[in-house]
Amino acid sequence: MKKVVTKKSMMYTVDLTKIDGDGAFPCPKCGAVISPEDETEEAYAIVETTVKKDELAELVLMCNRCRSKIRLTGFLMQPEI
Ligand SMILES: [Zn+2]
Repeated sequence: MKKVVTKKSMMYTVDLTKIDGDGAFPCPKCGAVISPEDETEEAYAIVETTVKKDELAELVLMCNRCRSKIRLTGFLMQPEI
């Protein structure tokens, strides 16, 4: 079952294929640096993960500073580091 998401709350989308370096990016709203490699989750909380064919396809984070939701896409096109 797919949940129907209302577009009420603000959702930002960040495409990881457009980010240089280690995948860290500033929050589109407040500018807090969010790094998917940061496992302490101090800057963000993971809200939802989408897995396709055993690979992480999408990740929805919530910025802990401004509470914006940020959808990360482009995992599958990430080159091996
Ligand atoms: Zn923020």
